[in-house]
Amino acid sequence: MTLPTVAVGALGGTIAMTPAHPGEPVAPGLEAADLVRAVPGLRAVARVRAESLRNLPSAAIAAEDLLVALAWARAQVDARAAGVVLTHGTDTLEESAYLLDLLWDRPEPLVLTGAMRPPRTAGPDGPANVFAAVVVAAAPAARDLGVLAVLDDEAHLARWVTKARTTGVGAFASPGAAPVGRVVEGALVPTLVPAGPRLPALPAPAAPGPVRVALLECALGDDGALVDLVVEAGWAGLVLAGAGAGHVSPATAEAVSRAAARVPVVVASRTGSGPTATRTYGYPGSETDLLRRGALLAGSLAPRKARLLLWALLAGGAEPAAVRAEVARRGSAAS
Ligand code: ASP
Repeated sequence: MTLPTVAVGALGGTIAMTPAHPGEPVAPGLEAADLVRAVPGLRAVARVRAESLRNLPSAAIAAEDLLVALAWARAQVDARAAGVVLTHGTDTLEESAYLLDLLWDRPEPLVLTGAMRPPRTAGPDGPANVFAAVVVAAAPAARDLGVLAVLDDEAHLARWVTKARTTGVGAFASPGAAPVGRVVEGALVPTLVPAGPRLPALPAPAAPGPVRVALLECALGDDGALVDLVVEAGWAGLVLAGAGAGHVSPATAEAVSRAAARVPVVVASRTGSGPTATRTYGYPGSETDLLRRGALLAGSLAPRKARLLLWALLAGGAEPAAVRAEVARRGSAAS
């Protein structure tokens, strides 16, 4: 039987971090070939080709790096890989996964994985996560699901996945949804199907350029001054992580009116799960008030994912009507 080919591209993260001397803090060190070599049994499930693309901690990854990874992943499937795995730091894995998901225009699975424990510690999770990620990337059942995050033998859609804890394994979850599959005995077992069909990919921006989209979390007693500052400073768009089902203070609501007259303003929820409301509350700063002021609502898209959606739209040159339509349909719980 011919084994499927899976391409593994390494971007960095704890999975590749080692101490310079025993007992010291870890920093990026291992290459893609090292990560693959550390996985027992991998040769039984796929032919793996590995390449180091970057070796960065999560927080140092920028849109430019992800556009490079996207082009590399496309080239791998063009060269007949059944699927692609990217190893990545866990801190911002959900953001990279979602941005890539917006832009991934192939049926082949693109899988992100990482590790919570560094390689040279007791019970590192990196090898098990790479194994499961390769299994999912090679699985016909994972085709047409877009970008997946695979950790702890669970496969999550990029749309929903989040890092829900700072330390320890089992840190990834899909609040508001659930994993779509599990890796059991070296095979992907689908558990759920997405509520709606996969939406078409957005055009990949040629280069990130000068488009900046801000993300501000609303807090008790906000006076809205930061919203004004962001717009004055020339940011192209703004996402507000609002309270509850998408609510802000009365003063922030006034600032939203001023901002929305100039740039797209998307209001999401800071709660971590559940959609923004659309027609429940009617006070100043409520969702109906913000809609009247010209804001868009993020639906069930988490604030940091709404920011990436808005960025991808604006960096891709989308007109205001397209921005409005895409935020509405990609924020819907069925997307
Ligand atoms: N700080 C690390 C990073 O995200 C954490 C990890 O990879 O687990 O790069």
